[in-house]
Amino acid sequence: NQKFTLVKRPVGMPDETHLKLEESAIPTAGEDEVLLQTRYLSLDPYMRGRMNDSASYATPVGLGEVMTGEAVSEVLESRHPDLSPGDMVIARTGWQTHSVARADALYRIDPGLAPPSAWLGVMGMTGFTAYVGLLEFGRPKPGETVVVSAASGAVGQVVGQIAKMKGCRVVGVAGANDKCQHVVDHYGFDACVNYKDDNFEDQLEKACPNGIDVYFENVGGKVFEAVMKLVNPFARIPVCGRIAHYNQTELPEGPDRLVPFMGQILIKRLMFRGFIQSDHHELLPQFRRDMSQWLEEGKVRYQEDVVEGFENALSAFQGLLQGRNRGKLVIKVS
Ligand code: NDP
Repeated sequence: NQKFTLVKRPVGMPDETHLKLEESAIPTAGEDEVLLQTRYLSLDPYMRGRMNDSASYATPVGLGEVMTGEAVSEVLESRHPDLSPGDMVIARTGWQTHSVARADALYRIDPGLAPPSAWLGVMGMTGFTAYVGLLEFGRPKPGETVVVSAASGAVGQVVGQIAKMKGCRVVGVAGANDKCQHVVDHYGFDACVNYKDDNFEDQLEKACPNGIDVYFENVGGKVFEAVMKLVNPFARIPVCGRIAHYNQTELPEGPDRLVPFMGQILIKRLMFRGFIQSDHHELLPQFRRDMSQWLEEGKVRYQEDVVEGFENALSAFQGLLQGRNRGKLVIKVS
């Protein structure tokens, strides 16, 4: 069994001094448990937060523990009547090649609806995040302008396509020209702006001639500040993530912007809504029904960035925090 263990808490970018690749014996399944072999490991920005020892919505990974994460695995041995060898399941088994899990902690996927890796992305956690955040908290109406940051990523690409189905003008923000081109050409975004361009703020304003009604916040930082200048009265801002700040080691420079920011919330009657997808389990069946239909009808398309080899998980994760991925990042383990 190969596994990545958290041995030291990172300040800034995590590297091999924080996450160590180790070998251990393959575990054995007890009663009501199954032995699993990881096929695809999902790599997600939230993992950076779990390496910190600070209060959050979830407990941090302990030092010496296997790094947390969700994976699609194949059942190798089963000591539970409901699961058989060969079944494909999703579980939070962490960054390791083999694991044991209680059968009732697993979700058996239907590879007929979508390929196994897609159950970590468009049919899984990140697709669900887009669905919940946009529909429950963004509440887009036909004709409105929806802006989404990290637009070409796992969550962003789905947000934009659902917003298009709702009849909105959709503007993406991403950190590379090929990413911008991709969301316009493949997902039907109306426009996409590269936040690394010098005239980013002007480009964003031109792309949103009627202002912004919904901003799906994935990044924070300078993108957030540019968007705030363009939001319309009664805009809704689902706060999904703030990846620009995950590796930050000190507070940003410059004057404290809290006072004008609070003023804008009041004057424009803005609605900010932080959300965590796992609080909304009751919507999962409805999401799976809708998404499998959209995939079948070709209304939602998706891009995965599949990195081969378990040992490459750390460098791929570093790339995710720097924008190297193109679409949902997964490790093909075996
Ligand atoms: P992505 O597939 O979008 O990958 C992360 C992307 O973030 C990178 O490719 C990069 O794209 C962008 N990025 C990295 N650093 C910066 C930066 N400094 N400034 C701006 N953009 C940056 O990841 P996901 O779609 O999985 O996640 C998107 C967001 O959603 C994250 O913030 C994540 O934490 C959040 N999330 C929240 C959930 C919830 O329940 N609330 C659940 C799942 C995800 P680029 O090249 O465009 O910069």
